Amino acid sequence: MISWKRAAFAFSLGLILASSAAAQPKIIDAHMHYNGDPAFLKTLLAKLDQVDGMAFLLVEPKDLDGVKDAIKEHSNRLVGFGEIQLDHPKVLDQIDRFHAAGFRGLGELSGPRNRYDDPSYSRVYERAERYGMLLLFHTGIVNRMTPDIPADISVDRMRATTLDNIARRYPKVNIIGAHLGNPDYQWAAEIARWNPNIHWDLSGSTLIKKQEDYTFFKSIFWWSAVVSPHTPKGGPNAFEKIVFGSDVFGGELEEFDRGLERYHKMLDACGVPPEVQADIFSGTLWRLLNKQ
Ligand SMILES: [Zn+2]
Repeated sequence: MISWKRAAFAFSLGLILASSAAAQPKIIDAHMHYNGDPAFLKTLLAKLDQVDGMAFLLVEPKDLDGVKDAIKEHSNRLVGFGEIQLDHPKVLDQIDRFHAAGFRGLGELSGPRNRYDDPSYSRVYERAERYGMLLLFHTGIVNRMTPDIPADISVDRMRATTLDNIARRYPKVNIIGAHLGNPDYQWAAEIARWNPNIHWDLSGSTLIKKQEDYTFFKSIFWWSAVVSPHTPKGGPNAFEKIVFGSDVFGGELEEFDRGLERYHKMLDACGVPPEVQADIFSGTLWRLLNKQ
């Protein structure tokens, strides 16, 4: 028989565990590719414990079964994203499977045969809307890892501006654009200014390219405290449109720390206040996760 003391202890322990599962982490990384290797997952979890972090783990359909239990078990550290291909004939079934496994988003979407805002992809965005899933899109220049193999890929179909129409058609869907549209920074920021459901990560080569000129981003995110009929009323600091993303891929977790360092340097150079930086590194994505 269980004593009342033991029962009370178990109950309060349960409360502590329940509340810690819902605690906001210090860092949320919107852009962490899973390479299919359980050893990487172990290293990643240790890293996230160390920094009190959480990562949106981008998982290809082939890796879903191998990783879904770990994501559930570590729900305070990992949030599943289904890395589907927009043109895959079974894409809707794949989305259903990811959703059934508790995944909260889709992406990184990349390499479409048509522009992201092509009507043929509406069924994907409608399904994401129905499930309350976030969407992470690759935008701008993209790598070419196997130059000898022909590939029907075009950066023109992944321009930052292609997200504008999707954001307006699906106001309940929250969109994260990766890489700030590199090099279409102006357009990326401008469409985020008017679309409350678009945010950007600054992963990739942009913060390396601009490392001698970080105040440049003040000219891109320019509308803080501006009062004008030509910009949304009562808007927060313009830098609030940025969220943290590392774009770790191929298991190279060192990029997580390098990404953090570059973000901090740029935001400090632009004089972004600490409370806004706290949103960039965690608060904004935390709110998006908890409002869906
Ligand atoms: Zn990308």
